[in-house]
Amino acid sequence: MGKKYYPTIGLEIHAELSTESKMFCTCRNNPDEKEPNVNVCPICLAHPGALPVVNKKAVEHVIRVGLAVEGKIADFTEFDRKNYFYPDIPKGYQISQYKYPIVSGGRLAGFDITRVHLEEDTATNKHDRGNFSLIDFNRAGVPLMELVTEPNTFENAEEAAKTASFFAKELQLLLWYLGVSEANMEKGEMRVEANISVSPEKSKFGTKVEVKNLNSFRSAERAVRYELDRMIKLHEEGKAKEITQETRGWDEGMQKTFSQRKKESSHDYRYFPDPDIPKFKLHELFDLEKMKKKLPELPRMKRERYRRDFGIKNEDIEFYVNDPALGKWFEEIAGILMDKKKIKMASNYIISDFAGLAKADVSVKVPAAENFAELVTMTFVGEISSRAAKDILAMIVKEDGSPRKIAEEKNFLQKSDPEELKEIVQETINTNPKIAADYKSGKRNALMFLVGQIMKKTKGSANPEIAKQLLENLLK
Ligand code: ADP
Ligand code: ZN
Ligand code: MG
Repeated sequence: MGKKYYPTIGLEIHAELSTESKMFCTCRNNPDEKEPNVNVCPICLAHPGALPVVNKKAVEHVIRVGLAVEGKIADFTEFDRKNYFYPDIPKGYQISQYKYPIVSGGRLAGFDITRVHLEEDTATNKHDRGNFSLIDFNRAGVPLMELVTEPNTFENAEEAAKTASFFAKELQLLLWYLGVSEANMEKGEMRVEANISVSPEKSKFGTKVEVKNLNSFRSAERAVRYELDRMIKLHEEGKAKEITQETRGWDEGMQKTFSQRKKESSHDYRYFPDPDIPKFKLHELFDLEKMKKKLPELPRMKRERYRRDFGIKNEDIEFYVNDPALGKWFEEIAGILMDKKKIKMASNYIISDFAGLAKADVSVKVPAAENFAELVTMTFVGEISSRAAKDILAMIVKEDGSPRKIAEEKNFLQKSDPEELKEIVQETINTNPKIAADYKSGKRNALMFLVGQIMKKTKGSANPEIAKQLLENLLK
C-alpha cells in the first residue's frame, strides 16, 4: 500500500456519420429506420461482384474533423480490407483504413490524437428473440469514423477517468458543431472504447486491456475508474502478472468490467488495400484551405469569445456552448443590453429562471430578445421587483409581450421616486417610534422591519432599496 501507480488511457471512439447514403452504396443512411432490412442492396449485402463506390461526403466529414482538431490531412489515402468472420460482416471483411488514414495527429481536450479514419459500420445482430438470432442490415455499410488517441498518462485514477469521459463529451460536442454526426451514445451512434493500463513507473506502460460497451459518459468514467482500481489492486497484491491483454466489457447492471476475449492483434486481420476502391490524393479532390476557412465557430472558440465579450461565469458559458440555440438568444439579448452588469443579470435569469420554466413545461417558448432585455433592464434599475420579474417572465414565455406594458397593466411598477415614497416612509417611522429608536441605538435589524412595513403599506409596489435609503437618511 501507499505506492503510486500511474494510469495510462488511450481512447478509440467510433461515430456514425450523418450522410444521405451509405459509405459505399446509394442505400439510405437512416439511423431511425425501425423496419429491419429495408435500406439494403447487393453492395451492402455483399452479393458477389457488387462494387463499392466511396461516399465523398463521408470523406469530407472526416477531413473537417481533422481540420477542427488541427491534425494533418493525408495527401495520399486508401481503403483496406480488415478480414474477420462474424455474421454481421457479410463480406468476411470490413472496409477500413490501415496504413493511410485520412487524418494523422491533432489535439483535443487534453489528449493527443493519433489518427482519424473512415470505415463502414457492421450489421446489427438481434440475439434477444429466443433460441435463434436475427440480423438487420440497415446499418451495414453506414459510414463510420474512428478516432484513436495516443496513450495519455495521468497522476491518478480519478483524473484519468474524468479526463477520458470529458474527452468523449468534447468530441461529441465537436461533431455536433461540425454537423457530421448525431453522436447519440444511447443510440450507439457514438461508441467509446477505453484502453487502460497501470504502471509503477511513469515512463513505462503496463499491459493494457480494452474496455467496450460504454454507452454513456457516466459509464465511460465509471468503467475506467473500476478497471484502474482493479489493476492497481492486482499490483498491490503482487498479482500484476494476472493482468493480460484482453477485451473486457462493462456490465452496466453490476457496474463491473468482465473478461470477454483475448485481444487479437492487427496481423490477425490480414489487412490489405481493397483492390476495388481507387486510391485518393485528398489535396487534389478537396480545397482544404477553403474547407478550413469555412469551419464553423468551434466550442473552444465560442468559449473564448464568450469569456472575452460577456464576463459571465464559466458554468454559464458551458451552458450556452452545450445549447447553442439558447446561446444565440443570449447573445442577442447581450447585444441589446450592452452593459456587463446587466448582461450578467440576464444570464442569471436565463439559466436559473427561463431554463427552469422550459424544463418544467414543453410549451414554454423563447420570448423575443427585446422583451427579455426590457425585463432585465426594468429589474436592474428597480422599476420592478425581482418577484414581479419572475411573474412577468412566466407570462411572456407563454404569450410573448412587452414587460413594460404588462407591468403597467398589472400594477407591477415599483415606486422608485424618493419624493413619492418619502411621505409613506415618514408615516411608518411615526407609527413605529420604538422600532425607530431601536435602530438609532444600533439595532440594524430594526431597519428591515420598517422596510417590511413600507412594503406592506404599498402592497409591494415600493422599491425596497429606495425605501431603505430613505429610512437611513431620515433616521440619521
Ligand atoms: P493495438 O495494436 O493493440 O490495437 P495500438 O497501439 O494500436 O494497440 O493502440 C490502440 C489504443 O490503445 C490507442 O488508443 C493507444 O493510445 C492505446 N494504448 C496503447 N498502449 C496503451 C497502454 N499501455 N495503456 C493504455 N492505452 C494504450
Ligand atoms: Zn446498400
Ligand atoms: Mg491498433
